[in-house]
Amino acid sequence: MQTHFADRLNAVLDRIERAARGAGRPAPTLVAVSKRHDAGCVIAVTHAWRARGGAPVFGENYVQEALPKRAAVDAALGNGATGWHCIGHLQRNKAREAAGGFDCVQTVDRVELATALARHRDDAGTPLDVLVQVNIDAEASKSGCLPADVPALCASVASLPALRLRGLMAIPAAHADPRDARPALRAMRVLFEATQRTHPAIDTLSMGMSDDLEVAIEEGATLVRVGTAIFGSRD
Ligand SMILES: *Cc1c(COP(=O)(O)O)cnc(C)c1O
Repeated sequence: MQTHFADRLNAVLDRIERAARGAGRPAPTLVAVSKRHDAGCVIAVTHAWRARGGAPVFGENYVQEALPKRAAVDAALGNGATGWHCIGHLQRNKAREAAGGFDCVQTVDRVELATALARHRDDAGTPLDVLVQVNIDAEASKSGCLPADVPALCASVASLPALRLRGLMAIPAAHADPRDARPALRAMRVLFEATQRTHPAIDTLSMGMSDDLEVAIEEGATLVRVGTAIFGSRD
């Protein structure tokens, strides 16, 4: 199992480095999406990742799945051995657990959620990293704020000392040919650069998954979220 995960992880890190070199950019951060895979898999991937010399970070969609998994990984490897990002839609009634259980919430898409996260993070000592999620293709089925709402939402997040605005995140519409996502990915970069002019400290543009990470890196992703290519399929 160990070698299996090591091979997959190394293949993904190689893909990322190759794409970044081709695009003439620094290699983006990898978040390994561990949803529906258990703590044992996360621990195996962490060992392989450390052997390669990186900082393991995992992404989860559901608070109720992520927190027990994180606790099991912390118990096995020690607190702080792994970082954890929330990449799924977050209900406000989960804000307390999310604010305490994640290092970064990538899916802030409304002011009420930002306010709730800030209220519950206040005691933690360190601010919670936050990305504003953008519904770049304006799909009815997807969460995320509309591009036009990004400036106001970023201003709200930036005004909350318990939160640290790090950038933007998007899940562009799926395409049979990943290159068809290029216009949406490019629109995200334009939006990110515009946001950077108001918030010069932001450094994270989260886009790109197993199938389209090369295109996303070419278009300026600084963080990619990869599940299937590392952990295998989720059935
Ligand atoms: C599941 C998920 C991913 C990973 O997708 P893969 O295609 O398995 O790499 C990335 N981002 C989000 C928001 C997800 O929900």
